[in-house]
Amino acid sequence: MAKINDNYLKLKAGYLFPEIGRRVRAFTAANPSAKVIRLGIGDVTRPLAPAVLKAFHDAVDDLGTTENFAGYGPEQGYDWLINTIIEKSYTPLGVSLKTEEMFISDGSKCDCANILDIFALDNIVAIGDPVYPVYNDTNVMIGRTGEANEKGYYQNIVYLPCNEANSFIPALPTGKVDIIYLCFPNNPTGVVADKAELKKWVDYANANDAVIFFDAAYEAFITDPSIPHSIYEIEGAKKCAIEFRSFSKTAGFTGVRCGLVVVPEEVMGTTTLGEKYSFNKLWLRRTTTKFNGASYPVQRAAAAVYSDEGWRQTREIIDYYMENARIIREGLTEAGVTIFGGVNAPYIWLKTPDGMTSWDFFDKLLTECNVVGTPGSGFGPSGEGYFRLSAFGNQDNVIEAVERIKKNLK
Ligand SMILES: *Cc1c(COP(=O)(O)O)cnc(C)c1O
Repeated sequence: MAKINDNYLKLKAGYLFPEIGRRVRAFTAANPSAKVIRLGIGDVTRPLAPAVLKAFHDAVDDLGTTENFAGYGPEQGYDWLINTIIEKSYTPLGVSLKTEEMFISDGSKCDCANILDIFALDNIVAIGDPVYPVYNDTNVMIGRTGEANEKGYYQNIVYLPCNEANSFIPALPTGKVDIIYLCFPNNPTGVVADKAELKKWVDYANANDAVIFFDAAYEAFITDPSIPHSIYEIEGAKKCAIEFRSFSKTAGFTGVRCGLVVVPEEVMGTTTLGEKYSFNKLWLRRTTTKFNGASYPVQRAAAAVYSDEGWRQTREIIDYYMENARIIREGLTEAGVTIFGGVNAPYIWLKTPDGMTSWDFFDKLLTECNVVGTPGSGFGPSGEGYFRLSAFGNQDNVIEAVERIKKNLK
């Protein structure tokens, strides 16, 4: 009989969102007239910007003509998209990138997982806690870890606790690690790292020959002009950092699917024999072998995000979500809740009142306010006692949800 990849058996069952779904269904079955407002999941709700939609349509029409038909494109993405992103999104930051350093994909979740292919298994990996669960679970699947302990921490992963004491920005590892995942603006906590903070990580990575995986999925939500949008704004980062970006949250592409990875040519690792080797070359090889490119209409739609009209319309949608974030932040603060995030990110991370557990607060909010959020403990042990609200909802619903919470907690 064929053997399975046993590493999958080490994974805890996908518990968080199924359990939220189960509790919400049980509540609505028992209370059919309750108007439940969902501020739980990290998905967008606004439609695509009209200019983006038009480009998408036009590209689909291209496929119906002999002259403009597009078949296989370059596996790593079309130059016209890559160069547009570099020019519109990196050059203004003072970051210069070569076309060969950017790879277009069908989204960031896959990229964050697939990048592990080009790193040896005996690298030591550090991840935050709480964290986007993909970073942890993909390392388990690929066989880098041992079993999980009762807290949920896996052997051979270095966990970096993020808590109130460190403002949810982890301290540098005390020992040497080889790979570090950073996500700013952060999901789930909504906090950001300034340039001085990121410089500490870049310096650590360069001093320890480590590579930083920088997840910038929420960079478009940054409102404070002093906060870096890309890790390459930090001196020395091109030697040690791989950056992930996505059109999912920026431009409502969660269903369309498009992301990108930047692998600068200078980011080096060593072979078993101790020779230096460029990760860019390996990633190109991996991409051209295992991927056949994001679809042509999707890449056309992505390029239209950066047209004058497309960008203006896309910004309006981001502003809409950030207005939701403001409403949640200010409402909860008025209700006496301690909150974090929500200024440069579409997530508000709140401390549960009276020391309640994350799940007890979930039940309270569901049954007393009919509002659904996400228990912080679902993102890692250090998330216990915290709770995530998302600003991706409809504004009228957000206003109503905040009013209900305010009444309940006052
Ligand atoms: C939503 C999200 C992504 C983007 O995922 P896609 O696969 O591009 O939709 C990446 N990282 C984090 C932390 C996210 O929350």
